[in-house]
Amino acid sequence: MHRSIIGFHQDLEQHWVAELDCGHCQHTRHEPPFFPRPWVITEAGRLEHIGQLLNCVLCDRQQMPDAYAPYRRTPVFTNDSIPNGLRAKHSTKTGVWGIIHVQSGRLRYRIHHPYHTETILDIERPGVILPEVEHEVEPIDLVEFFVEFWAKVRD
Ligand SMILES: [Zn+2]
Repeated sequence: MHRSIIGFHQDLEQHWVAELDCGHCQHTRHEPPFFPRPWVITEAGRLEHIGQLLNCVLCDRQQMPDAYAPYRRTPVFTNDSIPNGLRAKHSTKTGVWGIIHVQSGRLRYRIHHPYHTETILDIERPGVILPEVEHEVEPIDLVEFFVEFWAKVRD
């Protein structure tokens, strides 16, 4: 899916890497003739590209970004205590990932645009919540689960 560029840094080989608002990074090397990106060499060129969108395949693979760690978790919800907000379309803030941990029973997990998937979560199959991607859950039988929120560890 498309994510916004929020910054740049150089890797150990001095190649430029774009930092995306999902927490992932993507190489934006200047490699003529096939990948000419002369703009990445200058600070003004990089600044002009802040806010531009790149396709993030790591988001498509539901891969938690490096340097992320859990910072908060919800109480354990049961069928009676699931907040209505979780049963309706909702999403996390920019850069905030989550993991739905089912402790017993089964939970239907729908991810909306741009993925449009529906999976069944249980104790062996947690659900990954992608930043800003709308989703909802629905109990299939008696279920107990909690949600863990992940964000970038301060460096
Ligand atoms: Zn991403």
